[in-house]
This record gives sequence, structure tokens and C-alpha cells, in this order.
Amino acid sequence: MVHHYGHGGGGFSLSWGTGEMAVGLLDDLDAPPERTPVTVLGAGAVGLATARLLQERGHDVGIVSADPIDATTSAVAGASWYPVGVFAGAPTTEARGRVFERAARRAHARFAALADHGFGVRWGDEYVPDNSPERIEAGHGWVFRRLRDLYAGGELLGKDAHPFATRYALRYRTLFMDAPVYLAAMLDAFRANGGSIDIRRLGSVDDVRALPAQVVFNCTGVGARALFGDHTVTPVRGRLFHLEPQPGVDYGVQIDDFRYVVPRSSALLLGTSWEPEGSGIVQEGRDAESVIPEIARVTG
Ligand SMILES: Cc1cc2nc3c(=O)[nH]c(=O)nc-3n(C[C@H](O)[C@H](O)[C@H](O)COP(=O)(O)OP(=O)(O)OC[C@H]3O[C@@H](n4cnc5c(N)ncnc54)[C@H](O)[C@@H]3O)c2cc1C
Repeated sequence: MVHHYGHGGGGFSLSWGTGEMAVGLLDDLDAPPERTPVTVLGAGAVGLATARLLQERGHDVGIVSADPIDATTSAVAGASWYPVGVFAGAPTTEARGRVFERAARRAHARFAALADHGFGVRWGDEYVPDNSPERIEAGHGWVFRRLRDLYAGGELLGKDAHPFATRYALRYRTLFMDAPVYLAAMLDAFRANGGSIDIRRLGSVDDVRALPAQVVFNCTGVGARALFGDHTVTPVRGRLFHLEPQPGVDYGVQIDDFRYVVPRSSALLLGTSWEPEGSGIVQEGRDAESVIPEIARVTG
């Protein structure tokens, strides 16, 4: 059993990288021979990337998922390549920073390879507008310096060099995933390589033990709480509004307090909140109508 879940706020972004690490753990086992049947629990971004990586290693892979792909958390993610939210400012130790960097680089390379190849992945500009360069540095500085080469064209722009109402804006080039399109294309690729998917909710560890596989990858995300009793995984609720697509807004925007704008051809996504369950934080009144003026104050 390999547990592979939980990258709050950046699980989509890191999925391929953490997937490579998880699948690499097979090397530490008595290496299962090629074509060993492997079951992946979960068909979100993490489960699908893991399943494809296992197929690349020559395994027979089946997915068991309680939900069809369009009912997963991954399907409703904003899904810009934005691993910044995984920790506040900087990782707590250098060792964690190195693990994060490895996952981020591997994941970025995979998403970049899929860009413009029918997976709903594309390149675009993203801005972090703010009046305070210190606040931009506090939120993004560590990741930006560490992954500088991934943020092509990245620079802090002064007042007249960006379209926002703030004094400064950090601008960089990044990847945007159209989550439903991406998940559907990943599932197609998985099936085209002989994979099968069984839509069924496992109710207990006994159900997992009964699976006809020698190795199981647990990619159930927050579902691991109920299935494995793992209460170290804590759910965070986000609210995302789908507005009419706006011509000319083909760039993303990240604003402090977890407000963000993600451009898609089908919609302009507006993210408005970050509410850890059990924390008592419920951001009332964070509907699209109340948040649009807040975002407009920054974006001008
Ligand atoms: C509003 C919002 C915006 C976000 N924006 C971004 C972003 O811009 N960039 C980013 O990187 N991340 C973002 N995230 C975070 C990202 O969406 C998650 O980290 C990621 O989607 C988690 O993927 P996952 O595959 O681990 O889990 P999920 O997508 O939750 O998939 C879990 C899978 O496990 C299955 N499962 C669960 N329990 C069982 C069971 N008992 N039996 C069988 N199957 C089971 C489910 O059916 C599902 O298939 C956002 C999240 C939200 C909510």
C-alpha cells in the first residue's frame, strides 16, 4: 500500500511530481515484476497521474473510484500551475523544501509536455498585483527564487508596466489546466493503454484488502479520512464562481487572501475563499457579487 494524497491548495500542480515519487517507492520493495496488477484508488488529478506513471512502468493498472471523474474535487479546481499555496511563504525546513522542489519540477515538466496537445493545458501569463513588494516577496519569494527558471519572463513590474490598479505586479508565465478537459483526456489516455476504471465506493480497509492487486496506491485525497481513518488529512473548502468568459482577460491573477482569477475559454473562474474545516472560518458573504468589487479594486 502506497499512500499518495494531500497537497492542500496545490495538489493539481504537484500531482505528476508527487506521483513520480510515490511510484518510485516501488523500487524500495521487492521490485514487483512488470505487468504486476496494481490498483489505484481515486480518479482525481493525483490518481490519474499515478495510474499513467504506473502504466509507463509496464504495470496492469485498474482504478477504483467512488466518483466519476467529473464529480471529484479535481474537476472543480481552479487548476492553474500554482504550487505556492502548499505552504505559507516558505517550507518549514530545507529538507521539505528540497522535496517540494523535486515534486514541483517533475510536475511542471510533465504539464509543460502536455501543453497544447489536447489535454486542456496551455501557457499564459499570471499576475500578482499588490501595493507592497514586501507582501509579494513574503507570499511568493521563496517559490519564485527556487523555481526561477520555471517562471520564464518573471519580473516585478512598476506602476505603468501592468494593467492593474496597484503600484506593483509580479508577472510570470505559467500553465493553466482546464480541469474537466484535462481529466477526461487523462482518462482516455489511461484507457487507451489498457486501463480500466470501476466506479465504486470502498467502505473499509477490508474492502481494500479484498482487491485482487498486489500493490495498491491510495489516491483518495480527503476520502482517506473515512476510508483509512487518517485524520491528518484536513479538508479545505474553496468557492469558485464561473462567470462568462471575458474577451481580453486571458491571464490569471492571484490576489492575497486566496482570491484568484483563472481564464478559460468556457468561463472566467473567480476563486473567493479558503476555509479549513473545523477551523471555524466560514467566510460568509463571499459570493461572486460581493467579491467582484474587491477584485475589481485590485485589477482596476
Ligand atoms: C476551489 C478549489 C480550487 C483549487 N485550485 C487549485 C489550483 O489552482 N491549483 C492546484 O494545484 N490545486 C488547486 N486546488 C487543489 C486541488 O484541487 C486538489 O489538491 C487536488 O484536486 C486533489 O486531487 P486528488 O486526486 O488528491 O483528490 P480528488 O480530486 O478529491 O480525488 C479523490 C478520488 O478518490 C476517490 N475516493 C475517495 N474516497 C473513496 C473511497 N472510499 N472509495 C473509492 N474511491 C474513493 C474519489 O471518488 C476521487 O476519485 C483547488 C481546490 C479547490 C477546492
